Amino acid sequence: MSWDERQRAMLQAMGLRVWSRVAEPVPVVAAAPLAKPAEKPAEKAAAAPAERTAAPPVVSADASERAQAIARMDWPELRESVAACRACGLCESRKNTVFGVGHEQADWMVIGEAPGEQEDLRGEPFVGDAGKLLDNMLRAIGLARTQGTPASQVFIANTLKCRPPRNRNPEPAELAQCEPYLLRQIELVKPKIILAMGRFAVQSLLRSSEAIGRLRGRVHEVQGVPVIVTYHPAYLLRNMPDKALAWDDLCLAQEIHDAAGTKS
Ligand code: URA
Repeated sequence: MSWDERQRAMLQAMGLRVWSRVAEPVPVVAAAPLAKPAEKPAEKAAAAPAERTAAPPVVSADASERAQAIARMDWPELRESVAACRACGLCESRKNTVFGVGHEQADWMVIGEAPGEQEDLRGEPFVGDAGKLLDNMLRAIGLARTQGTPASQVFIANTLKCRPPRNRNPEPAELAQCEPYLLRQIELVKPKIILAMGRFAVQSLLRSSEAIGRLRGRVHEVQGVPVIVTYHPAYLLRNMPDKALAWDDLCLAQEIHDAAGTKS
């Protein structure tokens, strides 16, 4: 499903504009890191257009071929490929890959950053304290990670499928290697709405270096799917007052989801 003219007109009538991310990765050889500025918590969403200051990941010809192969995979192939992946150094320290969980045709897709210790041990995203908060947030709008219809169950995935050692920040090269998996997951799920949580997930998905506070409150678009940006549940656990902002984000996501009509 992509956003057709009718849906765009409806968003416009709601006073919302859709921000598209930079097109596909550029097939060249050198490595170019994505910019990673510090997040400004609770910064008010700006009305001004998003600046796309981060360049698309630069990939080698091999990486481009690999990305194309991943882009043709079905669910079982994708699961196998992630489980066996050795495309970056994270495969050396992981205990399990963390593919994702939820309904394969879910209306909603939640995208986080990377597995932590608990997720690495269990092979499932968001199972620690941040995961409990995420489950509660989803429950508040009638969604669950297990057992449900496409309309009531989410699909949860991360930008990285393997845990960075000691939960360090994801590196640009790791994000670039893992991105084809996430893009294919988005293509297969065909969600009506994506909720992107946390700085690395958001900046990598939107190819932006802007702070979450500036990116939230707007409708972005990746592969034709509307994306709403919000704070990471782990951040919310440390910054309780911002839960109110995350609630606003969930409500905006629900509005956009409802406006999207039925899935094609
Ligand atoms: N944080 C994330 O972004 N993802 C997880 O799976 C767990 C914690």
